[in-house]
Amino acid sequence: HAKINKRDYQIYDANIDKNSIERFQLINELKEAIEQNQLVLYYQPKLNLVQQKITHVEALVRWIHPKRGIIPPDTFIPIAEKTMQMDALTRWVISEAITQYHRWQAKGVNMCIAVNISAENLKDEQFCHWVIDTLAHHSVPVSAFTLEITEDAVVSDPKLAVKQLTLLRNNGLTLSIDDYGTGYSSLAQLKQLPVDELKIDKSFVQKLLHTETDQIIVQSTLQLAHNLGLKVVAEGIEDKETLQWLTERHCEMGQGFYLSRPLPELQFNDWLSQSEF
Ligand code: C2E
Ligand code: CA
Ligand code: CA
Ligand code: CA
Repeated sequence: HAKINKRDYQIYDANIDKNSIERFQLINELKEAIEQNQLVLYYQPKLNLVQQKITHVEALVRWIHPKRGIIPPDTFIPIAEKTMQMDALTRWVISEAITQYHRWQAKGVNMCIAVNISAENLKDEQFCHWVIDTLAHHSVPVSAFTLEITEDAVVSDPKLAVKQLTLLRNNGLTLSIDDYGTGYSSLAQLKQLPVDELKIDKSFVQKLLHTETDQIIVQSTLQLAHNLGLKVVAEGIEDKETLQWLTERHCEMGQGFYLSRPLPELQFNDWLSQSEF
């Protein structure tokens, strides 16, 4: 017989930290959350700086937990990645974005939607085919969808990533490198990626006007991207002056709290109908 005495319990207790219990509960609840529609997409506008029009939105997922309230994606996306739930989650996001696309079309709003794709998705050939088939099946033009992929999603298996990205792009999807400048990919790797745009990470944009090195980085990135035939999206625009600075330097698109925070559908629609763009 295994003897369990009080001391063992105490040692065990001392090793449990509150965070790991919470993480464990979230892992188990995430599957239910996807099945029971506890996830919601928020939409953040991307301003076309050339046309001065809102032509795109980024869909950002939120978990509306029955007891914990709104859980931000930074908390549960890493869990989904580690527990093989990214496939189900991203498929849910894309399916929901497709129905949203049609709801906007029905109102006469022509909106392109960007969704975030994780490294796990990019390793899965079936996933890439599913995206193409699902858009076709729901009569959504592929040109209406952008996939945002972080640099690091490409690093672990660049050859496979290039293959999948090529498939997606040859089928007409727009591909964007997210968080550009924060990852570990080399220029040699980036050169080989079949993508359409770079999204400059918000850490270079937020304090742009007060940080000379950020200005140099953003200016050079714009030049590099444009010389390579890529469009540039700046995220993290928090004031009017930064928006102006980027517009003057021919950045194609801008996104950030200055324009709008990510909003749920109805609030986004209100924002759009009242905005000057
Ligand atoms: P991300 O793709 O880089 O998205 C941009 C994040 O920056 C969003 O946070 C957005 O709310 C925030 N942001 C936008 N403008 C500003 C600004 O002007 N200032 C500041 N300080 N922040 C700004 P959010 O929605 O919490 O998402 C965090 C991350 O979670 C995303 O970063 C993305 O990596 C991930 N994520 C969100 N939704 C999904 C999804 O559906 N699938 C996957 N795979 N990842 C997602
Ligand atoms: Ca993104
Ligand atoms: Ca980003
Ligand atoms: Ca990010």
